[in-house]
Amino acid sequence: MDVVSMGETMVLFTPDTQGQMRYARNFSSKMAGAETNTLIGLAKLGHKTGWISRVGKDEFGSFVLSAVRAEGVDTSQVTTDKNAPTGIFFKEMLNEKNVRIYYHRKYSAASFLDPIYIKEEYIANTKYLYITGITPALSQSCRDSIFYAIEIAKKHGKKVVFDPNIRRKLWSDEEARKTLLAIAEMADIVLPGINEGEFLFGTEDCEELAELFHNHGVATVIIKRGEKGAYYSASSEKGYVQGFKVEKVVDPVGAGDGFAAGVLSGLLDGLTLEKCVQRGCAIGALVTTVSGDIEGLPDREILEAYTELPGSDDV
Ligand code: ATP
Repeated sequence: MDVVSMGETMVLFTPDTQGQMRYARNFSSKMAGAETNTLIGLAKLGHKTGWISRVGKDEFGSFVLSAVRAEGVDTSQVTTDKNAPTGIFFKEMLNEKNVRIYYHRKYSAASFLDPIYIKEEYIANTKYLYITGITPALSQSCRDSIFYAIEIAKKHGKKVVFDPNIRRKLWSDEEARKTLLAIAEMADIVLPGINEGEFLFGTEDCEELAELFHNHGVATVIIKRGEKGAYYSASSEKGYVQGFKVEKVVDPVGAGDGFAAGVLSGLLDGLTLEKCVQRGCAIGALVTTVSGDIEGLPDREILEAYTELPGSDDV
């Protein structure tokens, strides 16, 4: 495998009409999961990816599994739970700007992910382990699984890439801060958004944030800056990468997951750090141009056409 990740993928239901959801009668369904978004982004670019998770022995679990597998991600390490359901959630669109999320994920199958389901050889045989800050928020056994997976990766000299991805609905600020920092300290590359940097260290200044992460032992820090692009900092190189111009943002969700896929893909292709970050920015921008988290993730042909646009670098 090139990249292995672990986390929960749920089924998302969105009413076809706006307004209070109690009046909605028709819903559209999609799968949704930060880690699988990134793995799918990588698979679309031709990289080998694998997902460690649990789903319920139910129709939603079958849907998630077949949808992830259909995108080319290895699902051999996804186990099925007879006693716990696949997580689902709802996105209520009160109006254009006001969205409320309702999770039904407590005690979901994925929250029962446990180190006993993790095969050492699967992680030992990957190049990168990709972790987000969502999984350790799901349960104590998920948190244990994350630390166990990182321990295996380190033991076998594999690189750990971490997106803190804060979900404040899932745990207390205090617990989140402590755990996310502990994971960051063990990661080789950390990919925070400005908001996550601010949450962890109380500053929105990119250069200051990068230094603070470095002080916690993180070798490479890449800070996402939304439409402005990103800032990267490693011992030998640092700098800003401009965001790609997006005429109309249709759906900003998932840009960060696409960004991670771009950075990891660049690393796997042996690009310089700056080019990796440019690829991340290109994919993040592309994701915002269509509705859905994975629909905008490009294959090589689309990525090349996009990055060869006048004014963009070849990434
Ligand atoms: P999310 O958690 O919503 O997926 P995030 O906060 O992790 O996102 P963002 O900074 O929103 O990450 O987006 C990741 C990257 O995608 C940015 O660094 C940028 O390169 C690109 N991007 C996001 N939004 C835009 C935009 N409006 N225009 C151009 N590029 C964008």
